[in-house]
Amino acid sequence: MRDEVAEGVEQCRRACAYFEVCGGGAPSNKLFENGSFASTETRHCAYTRKAVIDITLEFMESQMNTWRPQSAATIGPSPLR
Ligand code: SF4
Repeated sequence: MRDEVAEGVEQCRRACAYFEVCGGGAPSNKLFENGSFASTETRHCAYTRKAVIDITLEFMESQMNTWRPQSAATIGPSPLR
């Protein structure tokens, strides 16, 4: 079982652009959805990793196009004082 899980993680490392964030997924979902620990994409990772990463990156990119640093005078006094 351990070897199959490691093989699945290795397959993800080789094949998936999201690996650096995901780390290889959930073995239980791989077994349930794909029938093997030695597998890659599942609906679970597509919805809980890939979609979240895509949406976050799209949002960050959209903000980078419009974001401008604000001066302290524009921001105003700290609400913590
Ligand atoms: S997102 Fe899915 S396919 Fe990619 S590394 Fe994670 S489990 Fe593997």
